[in-house]
Formats: sequence, C-alpha cells, structure tokens
Amino acid sequence: CESLIEFLSQRTGTDLKCIEDSTFMRWSGLLYGEDDGRGKLHWLPPAGRERTTCSFGQQICPVCLAEDEMPYLRLEWRLGFMTACERHCVSLVDRCPNCAEPLYILHAQRNSSGVRCWKCSFDYSHAEQGEVLDLQTFRQQGHLKKVLAEGWGELGEYGHVHALLYFRILSMVFRLLATGRFSLAMRLHIARSGGYPPPSGIPRIKEVENLNPRCRRELLRMACGLMEDWPHRFLGVCRSISLAPRHLIRDPAATPFAFWDAVRGNLAEPIRVMGAEEMASACWVAQKRGKRKTRNELLELIRVKTKQIDLHADPSTQHLPYGEGRYWKLDGVSPEIRRAAKLAASREGENVGAWVDKALRKVTGYLNVK
Ligand SMILES: [Zn+2]
Ligand SMILES: [Zn+2]
Repeated sequence: CESLIEFLSQRTGTDLKCIEDSTFMRWSGLLYGEDDGRGKLHWLPPAGRERTTCSFGQQICPVCLAEDEMPYLRLEWRLGFMTACERHCVSLVDRCPNCAEPLYILHAQRNSSGVRCWKCSFDYSHAEQGEVLDLQTFRQQGHLKKVLAEGWGELGEYGHVHALLYFRILSMVFRLLATGRFSLAMRLHIARSGGYPPPSGIPRIKEVENLNPRCRRELLRMACGLMEDWPHRFLGVCRSISLAPRHLIRDPAATPFAFWDAVRGNLAEPIRVMGAEEMASACWVAQKRGKRKTRNELLELIRVKTKQIDLHADPSTQHLPYGEGRYWKLDGVSPEIRRAAKLAASREGENVGAWVDKALRKVTGYLNVK
C-alpha cells in the first residue's frame, strides 16, 4: 500500500501526507470490516489483472480527466456504488474502450502523460461516455456517500444502523438482484410494480462487482429502492416470488441483524411436505376455476415445488413433442422469407429446421459433408 501511495504521489503531484490522509484506510470499519488482504471487500473490489482474472474496480470519469491540469484519480471512483460523475452527468468508465482491459494503474506507470490503458496506451480522457440524466441515480449516490461519511444510515423500521451493516445489507440485496436463480424474477417484479421496463442485458456473472457501471447503476436503483422502507418493500418482493429465509440467509453468522430479523420474522418457510389430500384439493380448485390442472397451474396454487405436482399434473399442451409446433427463430430473416420457407418445408413434408438445413447445405456446397 505504501508503494501505491508513493506512486500516486509521483503520479498526481500531490503531497504524500495529503494522499496518506485520503487512502482507503479512511473507509476501514465503515465500508469494510477487516482487510487482511484475502477477503473480498464489499463495495471496494480489486482493480487490474491477475493472470487471467480481470477486476474492474477502478473507474474514471473521462471528462474530469480531460479537464484536469494534472490528471489524477479520485478516491471515490473506486467505490462500487459510484456509477456516474455528478459534475459532468456522465457514466463512469471501468474498462478500456479500445481493448476492454481493466484499468490497471500500477502497470500504467510507463506512460508519460494522463491516465492511459496499461495495455494499449489508450488515453482515458478521450473515452466517450453516455450521459446519465437520471436524477434518482445522483440522489442515491449522494445518499450512499453521506452514509459513508457519517458512519451510519437510516434503515426504515430498524432506524439508524452502522454504515458497515448498512453497506453489508445493500450488498446482499444487490447480489440477490444481480445474480442467482431469483434475480430475474425479483427484477421483473420490481420493475412491474414501479411501472418501468426491467433492466436488460445484465450478464449472468457471479462476480457481481465486475458488472459495468451501467448494469450496476440499474441494479443499485432497485436495491436502494428496497432499502428505503426496509424491510417492507423487500419482503413484498420476496413474498411475491415465494422466497423463504433459507433462500436468503446462507451464513447466519455473517448476516446483519436488520436483515436476519426481517427475513426470519416475516417470511414463512413453505410447507415442504405436501400431502395427497392437499394435492387433491389443489386439483379440485383448478378444475373448479375452469382451468386444466397443468404443472404451472398447480404451482401457482400451491407455490411450493414438489414431486407431487408432477405426479398429479396433466401434461401441458405447450410442450409438444420435438418437431411439432416449434417455431423457427432466426434473427434478421425477413417475414416473407420465413413464410416462404415454412410453406416450402410443409410442401416437402419436412419441419422447417431440417428443410433450412438442407437448403443451406445446397447453397453453401456442404451437401456431402453430413
Ligand atoms: Zn467528471
Ligand atoms: Zn486498452
């Protein structure tokens, strides 16, 4: 860390003491508990490249850098919940626009001026960035900075909580929204009840801290929204998709009380053993409602996945045997060509896929390959 401080001092021309006062140490005990150099620091992810592992923890605002007389990195650009520059209303940049490498400041040393990509020497002050004009983003970002500065945050029913716990809960909620098998359902539910389209194009990665600023911004917007009236909105979302405490709490010892208590006290564990009688009455209810007792219909009624459903459910008509009723999905093919291909295929008594395969083989000369 000391060599980094010295490096930054040389790099930015700032007084050594001044930088020492403004290292990550100031967030110790507020943003993260103990930094033994091994564990992951919530909201302060690593930056750079370690063999094949890329970490995108260092962000920059290209406009700030372009304006700087002596370009330097702002400490807050390292915070995972920062996604946009408040001064310039642009998204932060966390990877080289030219070669997609993460910012790796320690290795960029050899470049003479400005902040440049360690690999291709791209000058980051030239990076183009989309505008961020979403007021909510700046409001939430400002709020989180205030929590960090003051050392506590307001957490709905639980009142004032220590910043460390506040950020830990935020990271748990963020993680639930970003990855795992419930993330999509949660996002859809929140977007629907908020009346806006669900965030799209969020890659399914486990290292959620490596999501780019745009993805983090959209997920943080949701996560902060859930923190606002803790735990009510959060519990509402969990109930809507039938989440139970065991889905939400993996490690009780590492779970802050305000999360643990809200979840354990308000969400019921579903009945795991489903008797034949309950199944029979679910089937009866479905039929009484004039619906077929398909798997989805029964699941909707019982809200617990159980083998009993598969034993009692009628086969769904949506699942036709292979080759029947399947639609042909090929982006970029015009509707009239699709229609013509379907017609030609049915004329030849073939399913569309097989027919297209044959036709393309003819055109590309791959006739004899298969
Ligand atoms: Zn800026
Ligand atoms: Zn590059």
